[in-house]
Amino acid sequence: MRKPRRHFQGADKVAILKRHLVEKVPVSDLCDEFGVHPNQVYDWLKKFFENARRIVDDYVEHYNTVRLHSATGYVTPKDILEGRAEAIFAERDRKLAAAREHRQQMRQKKREPSTPTPQASQPAIEFRAVRAAVTMTAVLTLLGLQARGRQGDQQRGPCPLHGSSTCTSRCFSAHLDQNIIQCFKCGRVGNALDLWAQANRKKIYEASVDLCQRLNIPLPILATPN
Ligand SMILES: [Zn+2]
Repeated sequence: MRKPRRHFQGADKVAILKRHLVEKVPVSDLCDEFGVHPNQVYDWLKKFFENARRIVDDYVEHYNTVRLHSATGYVTPKDILEGRAEAIFAERDRKLAAAREHRQQMRQKKREPSTPTPQASQPAIEFRAVRAAVTMTAVLTLLGLQARGRQGDQQRGPCPLHGSSTCTSRCFSAHLDQNIIQCFKCGRVGNALDLWAQANRKKIYEASVDLCQRLNIPLPILATPN
């Protein structure tokens, strides 16, 4: 007489597969222990890997096209590859500057009736102009990066951001003309200004002031309406 098939929940199946895959228990032993047919276990294994593959594929797609990365200044890798990063940064700078200006005006309005302005606030920097003025070569020189290879406008070497352990490392790539860096190890991406800010743990504002000073570039200030 045929034994009725035992019904297994998803968690049971995963537990059994884990015993096989991780603890290396032979399928025949598991079949004896749980009263399942080997074909059933092989079928679960097949489905397990099919699902795993789909999940990884979906995640990679999401990671490259949707997820906003802090390391890339919150633009997607796809945006960077398709050359939209600069435009996104510029638009973001413009919005931030406008918002800052608006806040400043609101504060000013509040204060005016009673007290005069206690101190001059920081000038609004035109970051787009800073990015345009600061060259990748200048920042790499300031950071003392030793190039380990060069191909066209691309220079490879150890990463100054995560601190490559060996000075012969080539995980860090800088595109001198395109003004883009990328580290294949820590995943950081950005332009020369981002590189200086990240390498010195400074905010973009402070990094801009600092870099312009070091490179003798007049700090680009946003024109403020009177
Ligand atoms: Zn790195």
